[in-house]
Amino acid sequence: MNDPKCPTCAVPMDAGFMIDRGHANSPSTAKWAEGEPERSWWQGLRLRGKEQIAVRSYRCPRCGLLQSYAPSA
Ligand SMILES: [Zn+2]
Repeated sequence: MNDPKCPTCAVPMDAGFMIDRGHANSPSTAKWAEGEPERSWWQGLRLRGKEQIAVRSYRCPRCGLLQSYAPSA
């Protein structure tokens, strides 16, 4: 996938990823999950059976706009 351009500044955006501090405060990459978030009283959010895709995020170096993608493998 080519790096997208910022729709406002028309400059190439920098590729990166979103950080998720979940389990024991150890960083991992944020994931996209389908459907509505359901709270679970013992594990935060109920994720069983939901499709999860690692999120790629692009940032405009000029205005800071973020654009995120969760491409299918
Ligand atoms: Zn921009």
